[in-house]
Amino acid sequence: MANFYNDNPSLKHHLTHPLMRKIIELKERNYTDAEKYDYAPFNYDDAMDSYEKVLEIAGEISGDIVAPNAESVDHEGPHVVNGRVVYAEGTQKNLDALVKAGLMGISLPRRYNGLNFSLVPYIMAADMVSRADAGFVNIWGLQDCAETIYEFADEDQRKRYLPRVCAGETMAMDLTEPDAGSDLQAVMLKATPDEENGCWRLNGVKRFITNGDGDIALVLARSEEGTKDGRGLSMFIYDKNDGGVTVRRIENKMGIKGSPTCELVFKNAKAELCGSRKLGLIKYVMALMNGARLGIAAHDGPHERRPPRNRSA
Ligand SMILES: Cc1cc2nc3c(=O)[nH]c(=O)nc-3n(C[C@H](O)[C@H](O)[C@H](O)COP(=O)(O)OP(=O)(O)OC[C@H]3O[C@@H](n4cnc5c(N)ncnc54)[C@H](O)[C@@H]3O)c2cc1C
Repeated sequence: MANFYNDNPSLKHHLTHPLMRKIIELKERNYTDAEKYDYAPFNYDDAMDSYEKVLEIAGEISGDIVAPNAESVDHEGPHVVNGRVVYAEGTQKNLDALVKAGLMGISLPRRYNGLNFSLVPYIMAADMVSRADAGFVNIWGLQDCAETIYEFADEDQRKRYLPRVCAGETMAMDLTEPDAGSDLQAVMLKATPDEENGCWRLNGVKRFITNGDGDIALVLARSEEGTKDGRGLSMFIYDKNDGGVTVRRIENKMGIKGSPTCELVFKNAKAELCGSRKLGLIKYVMALMNGARLGIAAHDGPHERRPPRNRSA
């Protein structure tokens, strides 16, 4: 019985930071949710108690399920069947365990069925999942794309997509293309308005997309005909239930093999605009990346098990 939370005092230490009180106060907005949800905290100590309990569960799943599965996941890896990704058996088991424990939509508001946790415990959980399997955390960790929907999509879109993420559906962020990696201003995947059906249609290729066959994707695409830079790009939400995107291949990587890095072909794929036209790269991808950076830092961290340094020594 391994618990990656209880065995790691230097990770637990983050919850004792003096700023935690302020962070929780801001996130809980005077603890008003306690009147509506029986699981919402009514004060700071109650909120910390919830953080501790949920992190203990994340630590137990990481130690007892995700870590023991890591080797077989690495050997088996994901594969493509008829244009769809099939995860390794252990990957699906990991995901099922985390979903069952309510560890999707951790930071989303309770009205969409999230836990409304601050980013601190979410990143701590990501650290533990990553210590267990640095490939799998990429799939589970893409839940933070939902923050972009919460921040920039309209209320109708939030209501349709966010509860699905909290219920366990996975996400992807489709930015990179064969000729647009570091330079995202060069993105060419084309978005065309389909006025008859009240939606947009996406055509083109995306590459190196982690969990590219996820249920809900944020797609950066060129919506403004004749433009060549970031000012012609908008952000779209693609729902896998609508079809139109196939997985052409999965990259054969040296590590993190359980994480499917996909090449995707969009053929008239139905999509809806997220936020305003032309702000896709300039505003929304920048915000998305700010959150993703914290997640990636947790993935790549040293996952230390040493106690905090004695500053008086
Ligand atoms: C495992 C993995 C997972 C990924 N997951 C995703 C994902 O989920 N979604 C997504 O959208 N993308 C994803 N990517 C793509 C990733 O964001 C790109 O690989 C990255 O942006 C770099 O782009 P590129 O590979 O085209 O390299 P390039 O942009 O072609 O860069 C090649 C080299 O040139 C250097 N270089 C580039 N421009 C300059 C410059 N102006 N000056 C000096 N040096 C320069 C770079 O530092 C690099 O060393 C993933 C990539 C990997 C490897």
